[in-house]
Amino acid sequence: MACIIDGKRISAEIRAKLKVEVANLKAERGIVPSLAVIIVGENPASRVYVNNKKRACDEIGIVSHEFALPCDVSQAELLSLIDELDHRGDVNGILVQMPLPAHIDEKAVIERISPIKDVDAFHEINVGKLMTGNFKFLPCTPAGIVRLLDESNIDIAGKHCVIIGRSNIVGKPLAMLMLHCDATVTICHSKTLHLDEICRTADILVAAVGRAKFVTADMIAPGAVVIDVGINRGGDGKICGDVDFDNAKEVASYITPVPGGVGPMTICMLMNNAVTAALLQNDDLKR
Ligand code: NAD
Repeated sequence: MACIIDGKRISAEIRAKLKVEVANLKAERGIVPSLAVIIVGENPASRVYVNNKKRACDEIGIVSHEFALPCDVSQAELLSLIDELDHRGDVNGILVQMPLPAHIDEKAVIERISPIKDVDAFHEINVGKLMTGNFKFLPCTPAGIVRLLDESNIDIAGKHCVIIGRSNIVGKPLAMLMLHCDATVTICHSKTLHLDEICRTADILVAAVGRAKFVTADMIAPGAVVIDVGINRGGDGKICGDVDFDNAKEVASYITPVPGGVGPMTICMLMNNAVTAALLQNDDLKR
């Protein structure tokens, strides 16, 4: 039976370390990291995510500013708020909670945030920096996954990592990050042929599909590490991942649960990026 990778515990340990780092920054250099979060409309899932981010900020000592805009806010108004926050010296990181209403161009919003305040690392400059390895910010979910593996003493170098999903926020940046960690990476997607066969060649299998119980035990090589990124609502109404956890755990060597696996790490890495942003804006590039 697989060892369960406890993302809740690991993320709590990282948040505790960040709290100490933030307290020291304040005491020794007068730097107080701050994060501005913009939420548009009343999407209940977005509200939960934004509340969780605020709670994490409070816990660590990061100042958070929330800007809740009505769902009919114009794109121009949203962009002008981003410009204002970009110019504010007391705001280190800017995050716009996605998804946005259909009348707003998400790409235009992402590109408006200064790369140095782009704590989600979605701006094309930060995406490019991830390609070349010259990065300061890493996208939060991929960074959280690599950190989970590292904290669990699972070596990525030389391993065959198969990622199901090619989104800009999970699959593609994770592939690049794993490549930087010397993995051999295969990205699978909705048009991939022989998916099951490819999955069975994985030493580390990552599911980022968004379909409940999509990865079944017969797609997993005995002893493989399974990372479940998915957040879905199962038939019973409960949150579940992309992996058929109960059967997969009998085959895998390590596995992340949902909830309590990758999810808590994503917020943790956002907090980490907010601290990095504060340091970058205080001309400290060493972190
Ligand atoms: P997305 O919808 O942008 O991408 C899904 C990917 O799955 C696509 O690239 C698609 O090609 C692939 N796919 C769909 N059907 C497939 C099939 N039959 N075979 C192979 N590949 C297939 O989703 P996303 O934003 O990358 O998110 C994926 C999941 O991860 C969602 O459930 C999302 O809620 C979750 N998520 C979790 C976190 C976290 O912090 N835990 C963060 C981001 C996303």
